[in-house]
Amino acid sequence: MLGSALRPGPGRDTTDVAVIGAGLAGLAAAHHLTASGLRVTVLEAAGTVGGRMATEEIDGYLLDRGGRLLPSDWPELSRCPGLERLSLRPFSGVLVHSGDRALRITPPRAQRAPRGPRAGGGRTGARAAASALAGARRPLSGTLDLARLRAQLARLAATPSERLRTRPELPAAQALAARGLPARTVEGLLRPLLGALLCDPDLTTSSRVGDLVLRGFARGGLCLPAGGAAAVPGLLAAGLPQGTVRTGVRAVSVSTNAVVTHGHGTVRCRAVLIATGAHDAAELLPGLRVPDFHPVTVLHHAVDERAPTAGPQLLIDADRRGPVAYTMVASAVDPSRARPGRALVTSVVLGSAAGLPAGELDRAARAQLAVLYGAPTGRWNLLAAHHDARAVPAMPAPHDPGRPVRVLDGLYVCGDHRDTSGPDGALRSARRAADAIRRDFGIGPLTREDGGPLSAVA
Ligand SMILES: Cc1cc2nc3c(=O)[nH]c(=O)nc-3n(C[C@H](O)[C@H](O)[C@H](O)COP(=O)(O)OP(=O)(O)OC[C@H]3O[C@@H](n4cnc5c(N)ncnc54)[C@H](O)[C@@H]3O)c2cc1C
Repeated sequence: MLGSALRPGPGRDTTDVAVIGAGLAGLAAAHHLTASGLRVTVLEAAGTVGGRMATEEIDGYLLDRGGRLLPSDWPELSRCPGLERLSLRPFSGVLVHSGDRALRITPPRAQRAPRGPRAGGGRTGARAAASALAGARRPLSGTLDLARLRAQLARLAATPSERLRTRPELPAAQALAARGLPARTVEGLLRPLLGALLCDPDLTTSSRVGDLVLRGFARGGLCLPAGGAAAVPGLLAAGLPQGTVRTGVRAVSVSTNAVVTHGHGTVRCRAVLIATGAHDAAELLPGLRVPDFHPVTVLHHAVDERAPTAGPQLLIDADRRGPVAYTMVASAVDPSRARPGRALVTSVVLGSAAGLPAGELDRAARAQLAVLYGAPTGRWNLLAAHHDARAVPAMPAPHDPGRPVRVLDGLYVCGDHRDTSGPDGALRSARRAADAIRRDFGIGPLTREDGGPLSAVA
């Protein structure tokens, strides 16, 4: 039961907290707030929830608008009510094509699969990571490179994330060059892997973020949400009280106790939480910092299943012999993504190449994919090419992953641009914002990891 200070005032459209945006951040914040007994209304401009975590269905295929790589070691997942039933489908490993080599990096999870009486028993994440790498087609130099990568990943897996957050911060490319590894190991393995994980082929991202992302990979490998990326926001929305989310309602201005919408009147409230992407947030909150973005284009091809495929692996092209940075048989990882008897190949273009016209990308990608998959691609059917110039907020050094989420009493902001880019950062920023609101409302215990400083937002 809420105290009188929390009861909304009179009026038709009243609620305790009006959340703007039903992406991951807005929906997660709504869960944290309703769990505290608050009435929440989520206003979403689009016709569906999910924001950038969208999946469209075409001809029986489930196509993610982003070629999202999620870490299996996803700490915020377990802290977000509503996601308990999320099913994650693991990749079996990563195959890096570099020169005449194809080096296979197998995540610890695959190593723990029972293969004999002693297999997997009692291994720590770090020790599992240390033995987690195997070469597919590997000359001696490849074996050495894998051993060096193994040592790097094992060290990162064993290092507490708090310690990584306090390391000196450089652009990730510079930090890799300063690690004392041979250029061949860096250029042929580490750099393409990290570029794919960060959606940043030039590795301008903060080395702290890079280390945290590599640590997540070393501890659990990668996965895809079963049923497409939209399954994550879909589950969150379905777990909220009926009527909480209103789609097709665009907020046009905000104050601490009201949201004015386009054509749907004014929603009165006790607090407003802006959970949009950075550009939309800055329209509502002029002066808010807007980061640069990494563009991403995703190509989806339908393939006759008789064509050779790579299984549930991620294929990375270290040589960049075409526009594709990484590619996967998405239906081998998550069979629900393709029609029976067919396969779905999802390929991701990063960096400046992502801005090329779809037809040009498709032509160039087919030649490259034929090499990577060792199969003709001429008959593959391009189902969709999704381009997003503002897919992933850039995180150059120095990067503050705990940007303030409280603007002033009654006005808050969250989303991946306030934390680290990607789903984990979006969820964490939502939890921090919900904590700040609860603290200002004088209710509920604060979570241990709350911590956004209560200073002015910039
Ligand atoms: C192509 C692509 C590839 C990606 N790849 C990866 C990846 O590999 N790894 C990774 O970690 N991350 C990746 N991401 C990023 C990841 O999807 C995002 O970090 C995450 O989904 C952000 O969630 P959010 O809730 O902060 O914002 P959003 O998902 O952007 O949600 C904001 C919501 O606010 C709504 N909105 C905006 N303005 C208004 C308004 N005025 N009124 C009402 N509603 C409004 C929008 O419609 C949207 O639904 C990718 C993103 C894209 C697009």
